[in-house]
Amino acid sequence: MPDREVLDVDILIVGAGPAGLAAALRLAQLQKAAGGEPLSIAVLEKGREPGAHALSGAVLDLSALRDLIPDYADRQAPVDTRVTDDEVHLLTAGRAWRLPFTPPPLANHGCALISLSAFVAWLATQVEAEGIDLFSGFGGAELLWDGHVVTGVRTGDRGLDRQRQPTAAFEPGVDIRATLTIICDGVRGNLTKVLVQRLGLDRDRLPQVYALGIKELWETPDTRLAPGRVIHTMGYPLRLHEFGGAFLYGLPGNQISMGLVTGLDYHDPLFDPHQAFQRLKQHPFVSTLLDGGSLVKYGAKALPEGGWHAIPRLASDGVLIAGDAGGFVNSLRLKGIHLAMRSGMLAAETAFEAVRAGDVSAARLARYQDAIDRSAIRTELYPVRNVHQAFGHGLAAGVAFAGLSMLTGGWWLRDPMPATAGHERTATLADFYGSAAETAVARRSAPKYDRRLTFDRVTGVHHSGTHHREDAPSHLLVHDLEICRTRCAVEYANPCTRFCPAHVYEMVDDGQGGRRLQINASNCVHCKTCDIMDPYQIIDWVPPEGGDGPQYDGM
Ligand code: SF4
Repeated sequence: MPDREVLDVDILIVGAGPAGLAAALRLAQLQKAAGGEPLSIAVLEKGREPGAHALSGAVLDLSALRDLIPDYADRQAPVDTRVTDDEVHLLTAGRAWRLPFTPPPLANHGCALISLSAFVAWLATQVEAEGIDLFSGFGGAELLWDGHVVTGVRTGDRGLDRQRQPTAAFEPGVDIRATLTIICDGVRGNLTKVLVQRLGLDRDRLPQVYALGIKELWETPDTRLAPGRVIHTMGYPLRLHEFGGAFLYGLPGNQISMGLVTGLDYHDPLFDPHQAFQRLKQHPFVSTLLDGGSLVKYGAKALPEGGWHAIPRLASDGVLIAGDAGGFVNSLRLKGIHLAMRSGMLAAETAFEAVRAGDVSAARLARYQDAIDRSAIRTELYPVRNVHQAFGHGLAAGVAFAGLSMLTGGWWLRDPMPATAGHERTATLADFYGSAAETAVARRSAPKYDRRLTFDRVTGVHHSGTHHREDAPSHLLVHDLEICRTRCAVEYANPCTRFCPAHVYEMVDDGQGGRRLQINASNCVHCKTCDIMDPYQIIDWVPPEGGDGPQYDGM
């Protein structure tokens, strides 16, 4: 058995997304300005290369980029397409009404329409140009601890078989010991989840709530949406009690970036986000835009929507949390990339001073929280701190409260307005459908796909470029399969088979007259929905072998 390698660095950044790369670049800038003995810095990325796992709409607020790289245009940042038109439409089953005005949070003039994947890949080139080591294809499997102090990260083993036994190709993961670790492992990151639970960093905070974004990139025969035209919709295919909406963005080359964002706090256990997305594309307002076009790319990702009061404590001994892992998203503006970058920059500033001072205690690192509190992040998130909770009372209540917030600065009689974790809001079949539960389950018809506008999940996975080694161990750890077969089947009709957008979970014949859960782990697009929405919280998403997963070029 080969020995486990050990690497020592001063600062380790886990996750080469917008937050992690912004942190790395800021560290390089601080180092240059300070001179002296340089700190050793390493960045880990679980994707094959930076950007491979990055997916978003995406409209980029350029403010953080401007602060981080003022000459970003000269450095050919892929942010050329500027938003020229904003529209908001209300959809019913067959019609669309354009709102006579664009609500201020959705006014995007001056922002850039980007491929997040391309933007992240470009940011990585800026980081590497500064001589920072970026290790792609290495997921952070577990945190290293010394008591309650985080001392680094162990990367995942390679070459295990399905039973987690070493094969001839076995290579143990590397222990990267760091004076300070900045965790930017994204929405519902596996390391952040363990860290928050073990240290109780979410004590006295609201539970984080999430949404699932399913996105497709389309190419149309002619220009249906001019580059820079941005459309958001509310209403259909979601019902009044379901949070979310759709986006349609015009890109150069007759491309349309489109998708549906669905709050992962819906009540109906039979709700199916993928089916809702297919219905969206069949709506005349959308189908006219896509008609005759072809699907280029598919993907899905969860996003944190809980807002200011759901952000956990961000610092502990030897560790900081930044980006989506911390929950920096403005769900009213539908934006988080700039906040993720800004949090990464602030984490870097705290980390640099702390490591140089030889003090990475929680007390010293609390300066990061102070910096966030004084930053543009708070200015943006605090006034909308109760908006997502208000949407929990339905679309009308949410819209009314969002409007009111602009006048009141988000004030409410109960502040923070209470929130419930999404998986706890899913009702049982009996509670949601009452005596009609059995009929509701039986009446579900097998979905039909025309393969022109609508596609099944497996076709979507094919268009996500997802690859996992087939004989690798499953990275979806379902801790009690008996619950799936018994309680969950009866109480919820196995919602994982619906909320997973990649056909990973399937109830199949067990050969003994019953049903069992089959896990098609190689389909997984790493959206994290199952980890978030499983009603019994018995699913843990852990990183698969480094480099495996989706390939989101252009997304
Ligand atoms: Fe998303 Fe989980 Fe399905 Fe993977 S298995 S695609 S993380 S819901």
